[in-house]
Amino acid sequence: MTEPFIKPRTGRAPHQPTPASTPEPANGGPEAGRMLVEARAAGRTYGSGEATVTALASATCRVAKGDRIALLGPSGSGKSTLLHLMGGLDAPTNGEITWPALGAWETLRPRQVAIVFQMPSLLAPLTVVENVEIPLLLGRVPAEAARHAALEALARLELTRIADKLPEELSGGQAQRVAVARALAYRPALILADEPTGQLDRATAQHLFDVLLDTLAGTDTALVVATHDLAAAERMDRVWRMRHGILEGEV
Ligand code: ADP
Ligand code: MG
Repeated sequence: MTEPFIKPRTGRAPHQPTPASTPEPANGGPEAGRMLVEARAAGRTYGSGEATVTALASATCRVAKGDRIALLGPSGSGKSTLLHLMGGLDAPTNGEITWPALGAWETLRPRQVAIVFQMPSLLAPLTVVENVEIPLLLGRVPAEAARHAALEALARLELTRIADKLPEELSGGQAQRVAVARALAYRPALILADEPTGQLDRATAQHLFDVLLDTLAGTDTALVVATHDLAAAERMDRVWRMRHGILEGEV
């Protein structure tokens, strides 16, 4: 298994990405504090016997603070499976995933890890702004501050005029952008975005990546984004490629 490694880029990210190829940091060493996710030969299979489906073969990878990573691969290659494991939504059937700088699995959400799901994920009875602020409220942010942060995130994505609409009144693309606003509003340590521009036209998709990267610029928040958008992938520091459940590494 090739471990993904740094794609060198200049004049972009203000952080120093941590090469996945560096030796293991000693427990508690200076690098341990920057390592958000560490997957060691982590895999996920479904079913058993002849019906076993390997959604993800043993994957070894790391995400450090400030990383900007694109996850490329055809449909069915295991991108969502890997993102769900990294977000602690699902457990590996072999190997392990740890969150050295974030702590125990129980503490990941909603405070530290935000996930932009590939499928519609807005709560139907709540308005757009209520959907965006709900992780903040669950994280015990005071109501007024939560509303302020939610409206600010919506404004960044030019969604202010739909703040009071219900999810059923939105297009698929608008709903995807609201889900991105929800991830940005919290300023988590890690954003895992699963094909967030899958339903957007080219210009809107580019705008969404502009907002994502501008908002995160200079912050320690790491971004892992599954996408088919090669132009967007080019804007990240590292590109991981997946095929048939295997994480192959840099393009
Ligand atoms: P991608 O996000 O790249 O399209 P996925 O991670 O969704 O890929 O899926 C990888 C593989 O795992 C696919 O073959 C898919 O059919 C299979 N898979 C995903 N979830 C399940 C499940 N709940 N049960 C059985 N197979 C699954
Ligand atoms: Mg997927």
